[in-house]
Amino acid sequence: MTYDRFFSAALALLHEERRYRVFADLERTAGRFPHATWHSPDGPRSVVLWCSNDYLGMGQHPKVIKAMVDTAVRVGAGAGGTRNIAGTNHPLTQLEAELADLHGKEAALLFTSGYVSNQTSIATIAKLIPNCLILSDALNHNSMIEGVRRAGGERKIFRHNDMAHLEELLIAAGERPKLIACESLYSMDGDVAPLAKICDLADKYGAMTYVDEVHAVGMYGPRGGGIAERDGVMHRIDVLEGTLAKAFGCLGGYIAASAAVVDAVRSYAPGFIFTTALPPAVCASASAAIRHLKSSHWERDHHQNRAARVKAVLNTAGVPVIPNDTHIVPVMVGSPEKCKEASDLLLVEHGIYIQPINYPTVPRGTERLRITPTPCHSDALVDALAEALVDVWRQLGLPLRYRTLAAG
Ligand code: PLP
Repeated sequence: MTYDRFFSAALALLHEERRYRVFADLERTAGRFPHATWHSPDGPRSVVLWCSNDYLGMGQHPKVIKAMVDTAVRVGAGAGGTRNIAGTNHPLTQLEAELADLHGKEAALLFTSGYVSNQTSIATIAKLIPNCLILSDALNHNSMIEGVRRAGGERKIFRHNDMAHLEELLIAAGERPKLIACESLYSMDGDVAPLAKICDLADKYGAMTYVDEVHAVGMYGPRGGGIAERDGVMHRIDVLEGTLAKAFGCLGGYIAASAAVVDAVRSYAPGFIFTTALPPAVCASASAAIRHLKSSHWERDHHQNRAARVKAVLNTAGVPVIPNDTHIVPVMVGSPEKCKEASDLLLVEHGIYIQPINYPTVPRGTERLRITPTPCHSDALVDALAEALVDVWRQLGLPLRYRTLAAG
């Protein structure tokens, strides 16, 4: 039996649906982000990154790099095992204290990624509550969906950000325990959950709340605590989940919650128990990023300024930006072929890297370019991006959306 044919057939299907993914081989240069080298088939080329989730450029911040290097030199590279077997490295304990403080919670627990933190925490929390019904937003990230599935109990999906539907489901559930799981900022459309209303409903119907702040921590709120901090509802949410891999520029995921929740997840969650802890150098660098962003507003302010500028320039140029109030700049293409072609042309002809976003990350027919401005993108880079997009849109016969002055 030649097993490879199964895999070749699966790959052929992706090619047929025009959603086979190709990754660019990139090398960032610390201090020059968003500039990077693309190791193209024809050799190295200088390109500008416009789709990194290192939203604030903290991955190249001197304090973050120094903390990582100093710690690795001092204590070595790896963590040496799972925490259950090898104990805990001190920089990891310090990071958990930093995270608990960031979110105003009694405790925090670190995982090897945001993905793992959702997958294992949601499942563990729901399993520990007898007869728990999970109410999950329809657009929740795959890591949350996996957590909900692994919980194994009953679940209901409420229409995205639809509070009337959520309330309907809460009423229908009656007196049983309920866990509402949602994100604060949905990263493909850039829209925000009505967290205060979700907390009101949770209070009214006695539900527990779990909120993924992966695309908001570091970037929103006076200390970078996320949308919940910005909206003044952090203390009303039971479990806040986040990543260290986006605005904090490092790697890892976490939950912050009451001491009882954190201790229970620590004690029962397989995704925590059975895997090696994050390296101490990574923990130290994440702590440096969090600490910096608790007091520095420059990155957050400049980030919002850059996102607003990109949206304004692209809208003026007629590029079809999906409107939202956050830092994400989604540009609708609506076809997997054209999305890939647009991405290829931007890279090859303009030295601009924006990965195409296809199904299953977004629904079919809503394929898009997802642009993520950072504080490191200058006005000149923004103008060059707009010119490149207009050129590519014309080459591919995609519609530009010129607005009349009267229409604003
Ligand atoms: N939650 C959401 C909403 C995400 O978009 C992602 C990843 O992009 C994750 C969780 C996973 O986080 P991480 O990249 O740290 O694994």
